[in-house]
Amino acid sequence: LPEQEAFDIEYWLLEEAKLQRMPKPKSLAGRVALVTGGAGGIGSATAARLLSEGACVMLADIDEAALADTEAQLAGRFGRDAVRSVTMNVTDEAAVAAAHADAAVAFGGLDILVSNAGIASSAPIEETTLELWNKNMAILSTGYFLVSREAFKLMQRQGLGGSVVFVASKNGLAASPNASAYCTAKASEIHLARCLALEGAGAGIRVNTVNPDAVLKGSKIWSGEWLDQRASTYETDKEGLEEMYRNRSLLKRSVLPEDIAEAAYFLASDLSAKSTGNIINVDAGNKEAFTR
Ligand code: NAD
Repeated sequence: LPEQEAFDIEYWLLEEAKLQRMPKPKSLAGRVALVTGGAGGIGSATAARLLSEGACVMLADIDEAALADTEAQLAGRFGRDAVRSVTMNVTDEAAVAAAHADAAVAFGGLDILVSNAGIASSAPIEETTLELWNKNMAILSTGYFLVSREAFKLMQRQGLGGSVVFVASKNGLAASPNASAYCTAKASEIHLARCLALEGAGAGIRVNTVNPDAVLKGSKIWSGEWLDQRASTYETDKEGLEEMYRNRSLLKRSVLPEDIAEAAYFLASDLSAKSTGNIINVDAGNKEAFTR
């Protein structure tokens, strides 16, 4: 190489190395997010991921004690000013509206909604009471409707677009035994997301879905009311159950709350600026899904 050209290359390599060492601007700086179920496994991991990218986060959950713990933990990691919490039942229309207003007042707007609050409560069809069916529909299907409607109102008024992320379930696409109420409610979340993607596009509001497969670590729903056979297996042999899910996946890996959080972050951020009405399955390649 001629001497000048060699010098130029060395110069640009040094400049590039300098750039690599400089702190990168955070991708969600200045954005405001509301995360429902923010005191749970997937919700708190997602809140942490959004906070790590510079977003301000309002945690919303029905569990007041867990909410206070999560808020304190996240404030310790990311700063008192970046995180707040509000107690909210997703089935309560007025409380949902108030929580969104709180987020907008505390942080000056709303750019991201992660609709994630949920339960796992199901039974074989002949044992599925109307109460159990309605509970699934109220918290999952209607809850997702209520929170996304409030987020849409705020985002439309703000006029800056936005991103709505639904944490649904692979059970919303693939049937699961003894869980018809849960599966049907989760399917309705996925379809609601597609409908809202159509409605939001004109205002720059994107709506996408993350479908987790079983996430045992850190999730409270696996120790609650999950009424089919898996509950007793869980109580006696959690490791065995986790191994079963791991083995049936193509990648032979367990799905963790942080894996769902990463997909939710991708959908919440401009990394997915050209995606709406889409689904990301985070299931380590669940083999069952390929047979349906
Ligand atoms: P989790 O139980 O750890 O968290 C759920 C949170 O939602 C809890 O903090 C709970 O208090 C809150 N919540 C429940 N009912 C509420 C209500 N009426 N109003 C407000 N908050 C309420 O469970 P998770 O695993 O973190 O689940 C998060 C989401 O992921 C749920 O929608 C769940 O269906 C979905 N999901 C989970 C799995 C899994 O295996 N963990 C798999 C697929 C989908």
